[in-house]
Amino acid sequence: MKLTPEPAHTELTDLTSPEAAERLAKTCDVAAAIAGRRRHKAQHAHYKNCAATLHALSAERGALISARDMLGEWWARDKARADAAGAERDALKAELAEAKMHVSEMITAFEEHVALPDKNCSCHISPPCSDCTENDYARETLSEARAFLDRHQKGQTDD
Ligand SMILES: [Zn+2]
Repeated sequence: MKLTPEPAHTELTDLTSPEAAERLAKTCDVAAAIAGRRRHKAQHAHYKNCAATLHALSAERGALISARDMLGEWWARDKARADAAGAERDALKAELAEAKMHVSEMITAFEEHVALPDKNCSCHISPPCSDCTENDYARETLSEARAFLDRHQKGQTDD
């Protein structure tokens, strides 16, 4: 027996025949199915892309949040340090003001109650002379106290 392969499509001679119309409809269905699959594939690719973008954005957001938290921590730490330094500075200023008041009072008391003689040094004859031995310590202390007040009176107007 001899087999003759049947052609996939027989030639259509009459394009207005119902057979031709049926074949055209089938072709249209196949085309629509292919288009649908392509659309679906494109949509799938689009969603995949969107998902990747969302993923990247969410990672970026996480990084930004931790950066923000870190900055917050730094800020709090720096603020605590600045506050501590400020408190220390205030305490030192108060101490200095108190010291200035005491020195000023001591100078006044010294000037009122101690009769310090004018310098009468005779060290060139026999060093050390009695004037230097008895009075130089008091003179130097008084002059240092006055210098201290001068120095810090100036500092007071600076801040
Ligand atoms: Zn002397």
